[in-house]
Amino acid sequence: MAVSNSLLLVAQAALYFTVMMTLLHRRKSIGLGVFMCALGVMHFLETYLASVFYVQLPHGIISPGSTVLFSGKLLMILLLYVKEDAATVRQPIHGLLFGNFLIVGLVMILRNHETVQVVAGREPDIAFVDEMGMLMVWGTILLYIDSLAIILLYERLGRWLGRHFALRVLICGALVLTFDQLGFYIALHLVSDAPLSVLYGGWVAKMLATVVYALFFMAYLALFPAGEQKAGPRRFRDLFDVLTYRERYEDLLKTSHLDFLTKVSHRSQFDTTAQDLILATTANGHCASLILIDIDHFKAVNDTYGHQAGDEVLATVARVLRDNQRSDDHIFRYGGEEFVIVSQRMGAEAAQSFSDRLRRAIEDVTRDAFLEPVTVSIGIAAAPLEGRDLATLFEIADRRLYAAKAGGRNRVVGPLSEPVPVPV
Ligand code: GH3
Ligand code: MG
Ligand code: MG
Repeated sequence: MAVSNSLLLVAQAALYFTVMMTLLHRRKSIGLGVFMCALGVMHFLETYLASVFYVQLPHGIISPGSTVLFSGKLLMILLLYVKEDAATVRQPIHGLLFGNFLIVGLVMILRNHETVQVVAGREPDIAFVDEMGMLMVWGTILLYIDSLAIILLYERLGRWLGRHFALRVLICGALVLTFDQLGFYIALHLVSDAPLSVLYGGWVAKMLATVVYALFFMAYLALFPAGEQKAGPRRFRDLFDVLTYRERYEDLLKTSHLDFLTKVSHRSQFDTTAQDLILATTANGHCASLILIDIDHFKAVNDTYGHQAGDEVLATVARVLRDNQRSDDHIFRYGGEEFVIVSQRMGAEAAQSFSDRLRRAIEDVTRDAFLEPVTVSIGIAAAPLEGRDLATLFEIADRRLYAAKAGGRNRVVGPLSEPVPVPV
């Protein structure tokens, strides 16, 4: 009897794996939603079986709910990550989390009903409903931790095991399901005084399930040997941020003040932060420089090659600025084709050579990228040498920029570029 129970479990795992992997494998043609819904809907059977359906195996008593379905679900989450990426797998991970909490919420309301009997002898199973309380909340949190852990562990193992995908799946499946069994047993023990044999029996079953699923996965890889490597964040911290949606928030913070075309800060950022940036540096006895950059004859670029090409030139010039940016440099798009850099801890002399380097880099990069080189003219003002007030410094830099244009363009005019033919 116990042997046939084992066979039945393997048959369930085989059916579960085959159907779920087929849905995952065919996701490009049928859509990923099919796989995700199937994964979610299994939750009903899993919970029901785990609470009332137990079978005898040679080593002890287990439930197909946790052995086949729970272990299977966790491995399916991992395989979805392996085949897709962190941004995709976080969807079912969070869907399961919220769905499970929603069930708990609904059940808490439902159990207060005065129910009526419509089929003789069939009462709603309130004991079952009650099991969806505390344990379900704990199990849901545990599943969430398990899901993140199995993916992070899988990536970490990649360092040592590289492309041994099935081995990685086996090891992280075994480790995370051991953790899960321990975590769930603690709650089970606290709530219903479950004996240690439950911990051991369930653990053995989960380990066997992991081995069976890893073997299935090996068979799958043998059938479809396509590379399992996907693009995505490789750093542990970045992966965690993507899995938990943290990167959305951080990206938003980072990009909300950036200009879409040039990926440098907006003019509004300049207006709100530039004065403080200068004061913060000069207050500490350091220098600061205000560097104004204007593209030469940009109207002609637009007129000759079109607005689209003009945009590409703008993006390229901004990229050169970003590529040369130090951590103390703050770049803003001040106007259409005008940029301004607030360089903290940069004196007049350094600003002069920094600006000249930028000027030459822009000329070189655009010469390679476009039909003709694009040049810029640059005006610099130095703080505290020439003032600390933003308006004053800006006026000085603007005058020098104008002088650079008047002097023939493609040049830098700063406090040290004397004699400066400053026009009025
Ligand atoms: P100068 O050397 O004297 O600076 O000549 P210029 O042609 O660059 O003159 P000006 O600075 O007055 O020209 C700016 C031009 O930049 C005018 C406008 O059509 C163009 N422009 C402003 N913003 C954008 C933009 O976002 N994309 C494109 N393609 N063109 C822009
Ligand atoms: Mg201009
Ligand atoms: Mg211009």
